[in-house]
Amino acid sequence: MTANLEAYAELKAQLPAGTTLVAVSKFQPNEAIESLYTAGHRDFGENRVQELAAKAAVLPKDIRWHMIGRIQTNKIREFAPFVHLVHSVDRVDVLTVLQKEALRAGRTIDILLQVHIAQEETKAGFSPAEVLGLCAVNVLNEYPNLRVVGLMGMASLTEDRNQIRSEFARLAGLYRAAQEQLGVGQITVLSMGMSGDYDLALAEGGNHIRVGSLLFGARSNQ
Ligand SMILES: *Cc1c(COP(=O)(O)O)cnc(C)c1O
Repeated sequence: MTANLEAYAELKAQLPAGTTLVAVSKFQPNEAIESLYTAGHRDFGENRVQELAAKAAVLPKDIRWHMIGRIQTNKIREFAPFVHLVHSVDRVDVLTVLQKEALRAGRTIDILLQVHIAQEETKAGFSPAEVLGLCAVNVLNEYPNLRVVGLMGMASLTEDRNQIRSEFARLAGLYRAAQEQLGVGQITVLSMGMSGDYDLALAEGGNHIRVGSLLFGARSNQ
C-alpha cells in the first residue's frame, strides 16, 4: 500500500510558497507513510494518540508529527516529548495539561488554538471570543512552555462551498486579529482545509492544509 505519488506531486505544484502540506496518515499503514517520506515529505498528521505514538516509535526520527485530533488530557504525556505541532487545542483543560507535560518533557511545544467555525454543535473548538480572550495580554503567560503560533479550524460538513469559504474567511479574520494582539512574528500558522476544501482554504489565506484521502485514498476502517 503506497500513497498516490501522482496526486502528491500535483498537489505540491498547486501550493503557494510557504504553505505546509500536512499529510493526514490516520488509519494508514506505515508503508504508505514511508512511500511519501521517500518522496521527500516530512509533515504527517494523526488524530489518535495511540496510533501517533506507535508510528512515531518506528518511523524515521526526522518526521514532523502533527497532532490534529480530539485530545484526551490523560493521553498528552504520550506525545508531549516529540510532537512538532498540536493543531487541536480546543479547551482550557488541554492547555493546562499540555503545559504540565511540556515542562515535564523539558521543552516548549508549539500549539494552535482550534476555533469552532462550523455550524455543527458537535465540532470542537474555542469560540472566536474565547480565542481573543486567550490572546489578550498576559493570559498566555500562564503557559510558559507552550507557544501559541496560530489557529486551526474545520468547516461545516456541507456541499455548500460558499458557506465553507465564508467560514474560512471568518477564521482568517480572527487570525489577523490574533496577529494584532500577539504580533505577526508569533502568529504565523493558519491551519484550515482538507481534501475537499483545501482550495477554498488557500484562497482565504490558509498556510497549513491537512490532506488525507486525496493522498492516501479513502479510509476503509474508520
Ligand atoms: C481526517 C482529518 C483531515 C483530513 O481529511 P481528508 O478529507 O481525508 O483530507 C483533516 N483534518 C482533520 C482534523 C482530520 O481529522
